[in-house]
Amino acid sequence: MEKVSKPLVNGGYPLHTFEDVESLYEVYITNPDDKNMIRRAFDFILEMHKDQKRKSGEPYYHHLIEVAYIVASLHCGPVTITAALLHDVVEDTDTSINDIEKMFGEEVAKIVDALTKIQRLKLSRITSEEFEAEDHRKIFIGMAKDIRVILIKLADRLHNLRTLGALSPERQLAISKESMEVFVPIAHRLGLDVIKSEMEDLCLKYLEPEKYNEVIKLLSKKSKTMSKSLDNLKKRLADVLFEHGIPFDISARVKSIYSIYAKMYLKGHPFNEIYDILALRIITDSEMRCYQILGLIHKMYKPVPGRFKDYIAMPKPNLYQSLHTTIVSGDGNFYEVQIRTEEMDKIAETGVAAHWAYKENSGYSSKQEQLDIEDKLHWFRDFVSMSSETANDTNAKEYVENLTQDIFESNVYVFTPKGKVIELPVGSTPVDFAYRIHTKVGDTCVGALVNGVMVPLNTVLKTGDMIEIKTSKNSVGPSEGWLEFVRSSAAKSAIRKFIAKKNAEMLREEKIAKGKQSCIDAFGDRDIDEAEMMEYLDNEKLLEHFGVDSVDDLFVAVTGRKPVPSAIIDYLHIKKTVALPQGGFAKRKSGGDCPVYAKGGGNKIAISLANCCTPLPGDDIVGYITKGKGISVHRKNCPNVAKEKERLIDVYWRSDIEFATYPVDIMITASDRNNLLVEIMNMLTLNKVIINSIHAKSNANSSATITATIQVSDAKRLHDIFAKLLSIVGVYEVDRIIH
Ligand code: MN
Repeated sequence: MEKVSKPLVNGGYPLHTFEDVESLYEVYITNPDDKNMIRRAFDFILEMHKDQKRKSGEPYYHHLIEVAYIVASLHCGPVTITAALLHDVVEDTDTSINDIEKMFGEEVAKIVDALTKIQRLKLSRITSEEFEAEDHRKIFIGMAKDIRVILIKLADRLHNLRTLGALSPERQLAISKESMEVFVPIAHRLGLDVIKSEMEDLCLKYLEPEKYNEVIKLLSKKSKTMSKSLDNLKKRLADVLFEHGIPFDISARVKSIYSIYAKMYLKGHPFNEIYDILALRIITDSEMRCYQILGLIHKMYKPVPGRFKDYIAMPKPNLYQSLHTTIVSGDGNFYEVQIRTEEMDKIAETGVAAHWAYKENSGYSSKQEQLDIEDKLHWFRDFVSMSSETANDTNAKEYVENLTQDIFESNVYVFTPKGKVIELPVGSTPVDFAYRIHTKVGDTCVGALVNGVMVPLNTVLKTGDMIEIKTSKNSVGPSEGWLEFVRSSAAKSAIRKFIAKKNAEMLREEKIAKGKQSCIDAFGDRDIDEAEMMEYLDNEKLLEHFGVDSVDDLFVAVTGRKPVPSAIIDYLHIKKTVALPQGGFAKRKSGGDCPVYAKGGGNKIAISLANCCTPLPGDDIVGYITKGKGISVHRKNCPNVAKEKERLIDVYWRSDIEFATYPVDIMITASDRNNLLVEIMNMLTLNKVIINSIHAKSNANSSATITATIQVSDAKRLHDIFAKLLSIVGVYEVDRIIH
């Protein structure tokens, strides 16, 4: 029977028209807007794909109609059918996701976008030997997120398998293998038995052609010899059910080719010991009737011991419900009989899809759809925990856990340079990745490349990213700052452990020395030398404030970063301290002249430049008389002094100051791109600008904010630097910061 040569068009399957799809969904979709959207999608793909042909030579849109037909036969909603029609339009034509969103709305666009990304991911990057099917399933589900995306992808793959005949033998093998390993398990997990069984049979045809043909031969022989006996049995059962006034529908089912193959070749059962090759399926209207029918059958025919299964009371993990029994008919043949309600039958064929099949006017929404599934799963989880002593329980539990995890929990799946897949919680960074590889990799991590580009260690990873970690033997170990951005608990605890260990290993003397050095560095940045720093720190109020008894204790505390040196400096309100020299002019401690003087300022009044608005020579400034700390100089527009009236004093820039530079805080806003920070730093260095500190942050709207403290001589010079910064591609705003 397989010898008949089939036409290549649609792989020999009946070719559907758009009207066929329409007649499927018109049963359950009546809203004119919804119908109009689907129709528009069809017209659109007809136009967009009009010059494209499939490998078989038929018009490309055939494929799109068939995929839509499959999802409509699962009673999917209008958004899903529309997206099914559009699923290849972004990848294969010059339509953009934006176009789709404009024409068909955000929901359709989201689904098409996910499908396009999955399509693009291909397996090109995942061909490494280390890559395993399980990983692929995870990536797929991780990227799909939405169950509708999974459904369309399954329908897409099913139709491609039906028409596999047009491809080269290598492609046939590769696609069959991938379908078997990746898509069949997903269909199974979701209970989509119709899709799963057909996929299995189609794949088997290419993976094991000889065995496939042998099973077909055995089957056709068996059904020929049994057809009369089967008819008799059907008739007798129908008579009895009719007699008892039980509504029923009775049909004969042949076990799928693949499941016979699996029993014969994977489990080693000879063909004539497979009892359920022919099954009778009886569908009735209630659970009660199922048991009633079972009783009647067992009264008429001898059941085979050990073959009765009550999946109504104990559903299978994928929610399958039915009664199964195997009987010996009068002529000695074995038959499996499956008894179930109509609803159970629907679930048996389409699994999860049956639970949330689109129902109009029932407040349908995608959110509701997801909630419904979750609800079902909660019910199922309760069921599992209640029956936790039953034998099948491990499978069931695993099923629920995997399904909920895969679909509802957010994970990202990224690659090692060798193609191994690493699963991380959403929001993870290269540091999380490094610690997932090995604690040592995390502890010595000094940099990271994402998709070949150097990125900051706090970059958030996306599914599909390839990560390469740079390590160094000279690394000082994880920084405490990493704790602020890592997501995985493993990374967090490893970093904490490292820091705690390092601190514990240090002797008190070392801690004092280390903390002191940190302070010397920080104060040095403000032109305060060690001796002066010690004067500042030997202050009872300060020590009390930080909860320590001595300056040494303070240094120990600084080693543990509680407090950090800058907190001490903040507490002291110092950034640049200057003292008035003879003659009323401020003199910098470091020896240079203070650039600011106050009229009438006494000899010993300290004048300092405020660190909130970092005034520069050339700025309009005003002096603020502090309580006990002399005069602090602010820019006139600084909001910190705007409301002051009485404590303000006129101050002036000296005209004869020696060349010096002053710290100024700036903020650069730019559209985020690779190498942005590097170019900014190059530009500053090229212009001999000293950078005290620089910090970059990516924003959600794909912009970046860079804050920096740079050393500049005066306002005019700063103005020139701003102009140069603005000339860097992507930079659109540069500003001074007032804290
Ligand atoms: Mn496709």
